[in-house]
Amino acid sequence: MVKLEKIEQARTVIQEVIHETPILRVRSLEESWKRKVCFKAEHLQKTGSFKIRGATNAVTHAVTQGAELVTAASSGNHGQAVAYIASKLGISSVIVVPTDASPAKVAAIEAYGGHVEYCGTTSAERIPRAQLLAEEQGGVYIPPYDHEDVIAGQGTIGLEILEQVPDVEIIAVPIGGGGLISGIVTAVKAKRPDVLVVGVEPSLANDTELSLKNGEITAIDPTKTIADGLRTSQPGDLTFPIVAKLLDDLVTVEEHEIIQAMRDLAVRAKQLVEPSGAVAAAAVMAGKIGAPEQKIVAVISGGNIDLARLASLLAGDK
Ligand SMILES: *Cc1c(COP(=O)(O)O)cnc(C)c1O
Repeated sequence: MVKLEKIEQARTVIQEVIHETPILRVRSLEESWKRKVCFKAEHLQKTGSFKIRGATNAVTHAVTQGAELVTAASSGNHGQAVAYIASKLGISSVIVVPTDASPAKVAAIEAYGGHVEYCGTTSAERIPRAQLLAEEQGGVYIPPYDHEDVIAGQGTIGLEILEQVPDVEIIAVPIGGGGLISGIVTAVKAKRPDVLVVGVEPSLANDTELSLKNGEITAIDPTKTIADGLRTSQPGDLTFPIVAKLLDDLVTVEEHEIIQAMRDLAVRAKQLVEPSGAVAAAAVMAGKIGAPEQKIVAVISGGNIDLARLASLLAGDK
C-alpha cells in the first residue's frame, strides 16, 4: 500500500512541473444545487487533466534509474501526460493507441512530442504491445493507475485540498481504474481521518461498486458511458485494496446527470469540463452526496474534449 510519505515525496518531485490548481466556488451553483460545494480544478492542470501528476512522478523515477524511453497504452489523458513529461525531461516516448483513435487525440500526443503507434482496438492488445516496446528498447512502461508512483502523484491533490479548504467535510472523486481516488484517500485519511472521501462512477461503468459489493475485483462488459476516461473494465490490483479499505462511500450517476453537470459548469461557472471530469460534480448536483450544510469539494478531473463533441453534448444531441 502507498504511504503518506510517498505522496509527500511525490509532491516535491512534481512541483516544478505541475500547477497547484485553484479551488473554484460559484455561488449560483451552490444555490441551485443546494449544496456548499467548491471544485478542485484539475481541468486547468498542465495537459488538461490530473494525469500529469502521476505520470511526472513515475517518469521522473524512470529517468533517475537511467531510462531513455517510456511507453504507455492510452490515447487519452494518460497518453498525453506521458508524452508531455517525457519530452520535458528530454527522453522519448511511444504511446500505443487504438487503430480507431480520434485524430484530435493523436495530434495532441504528437504535439507534446510523443511517437504514436497504432495497435488493435482493445487495451488487452495495446498494453502488451507497450510493455514489449519498452522491454525491447530498454525503456519503462508507465501504467495509467496501477502503479505506486502514479498513485502517489495523484495523491498530491489530496494534500492540496486539505490546505486550500481546511474546513472540508466531504471530498467527491471520480473513479476509473482507481489511481486518482487511491492517492487522494490515502493522503486524506493519513492527515484528516474525519474528512469523508466518496467515490463516483457512472452507473454504466460501475466496476468498482460491483467489486466492493462482491469483496473481490469484478470486471464489467465493455461500456459506452460518455465518460470515456472511466471506461476501465475493472479496478486495479493495487488500487482496489486501498479503495476497499479506506473509502467511505461510493455513488453512481446517470448519463443525463453527467451532461447536465457539464452544462451547469459551462453556463454558470464558465468552465469547460469533459464528461469524466464532471461525474463528481454531477453526484453533488443530483443530491447524492452529503447534506446541505456540509462543506464538499468535488474534484473536476479533466477538461479535454473536442469542440464538436462538446457542442453536441451541450446542445442536447446524442
Ligand atoms: C483517468 C481519468 C479519470 C479516472 O482516473 P483513475 O485513476 O483511472 O481512477 C477521471 N477523470 C479523467 C478526466 C481522467 O483522465
